[in-house]
Amino acid sequence: MRLAEQLEVRTGEPVNAARISAGGVELEVPTGARRYDGAVLACPAVISACILGDQVDQVLPWLGEVAYSPEVRVYAARPSAEDAALGIHLVPPTPVFSVEMYSGRRGAWGACPPDWQWALVCASGPDSAELIQMPAEEARRALWARARSVAPELFPLEEAAVVHDIRWEHAIPQLPAGHYTRLAAYERRPPVVLAGDWTYHACVEGAVRSGELAAAAFGQA
Ligand SMILES: Cc1cc2nc3c(=O)[nH]c(=O)nc-3n(C[C@H](O)[C@H](O)[C@H](O)COP(=O)(O)OP(=O)(O)OC[C@H]3O[C@@H](n4cnc5c(N)ncnc54)[C@H](O)[C@@H]3O)c2cc1C
Repeated sequence: MRLAEQLEVRTGEPVNAARISAGGVELEVPTGARRYDGAVLACPAVISACILGDQVDQVLPWLGEVAYSPEVRVYAARPSAEDAALGIHLVPPTPVFSVEMYSGRRGAWGACPPDWQWALVCASGPDSAELIQMPAEEARRALWARARSVAPELFPLEEAAVVHDIRWEHAIPQLPAGHYTRLAAYERRPPVVLAGDWTYHACVEGAVRSGELAAAAFGQA
């Protein structure tokens, strides 16, 4: 955070393309093109491959081959002072992967008032692949109905005052046998260096470590 305070941080500005040229890289963003000495692409591998386009071979020829598992979830909350403490985690194949419903006073994902209840329903990886193809509202209703077939005490979606669809297309990198062998041969060479959990381990710490390795490739400022 302290480092970010010294930098110009731009959010909500997706990079559409990166063009590598002698001594730098030009990033194409919705407001135009910007030139930098170097760039770390820390997106899901398939997105970094799209950003690099026909220059992908200069960076990592197999970048676009990293496959991802999607993740579909529905979060909902309703005003209700009634206590609730329900946590069901299943081993797929099952109608859902997990159902959680708690009173806000027992703690919550994010902020939930103590006199409300919140619920989170998660689909399995294979079901997420099917649900993410559906329109969000249809997927939401299908997933919630499956959850209520497993946990009838889950409140009806119609009673929710807050509903949030979580639809991550590139949620979890699938790192098959051989991934780390070919990754070991990857040389982090500026001006464009790759980072992200898929370059280290598929977890938050892996993502952080990948950023450290990418930064090290640029040497000390
Ligand atoms: C459901 C779920 C639960 C998890 N639970 C845990 C856990 O308990 N513990 C744990 O350690 N890990 C967990 N993980 C894994 C962890 O979340 C990931 O490993 C980590 O977030 C990966 O970080 P990352 O920076 O590589 O990628 P991401 O977090 O995916 O970040 C990539 C970023 O790139 C941005 N981006 C995409 N396209 C563009 C573009 N064109 N231009 C600019 N930016 C772009 C995205 O907006 C995003 O901010 C979980 C993952 C999932 C899906």
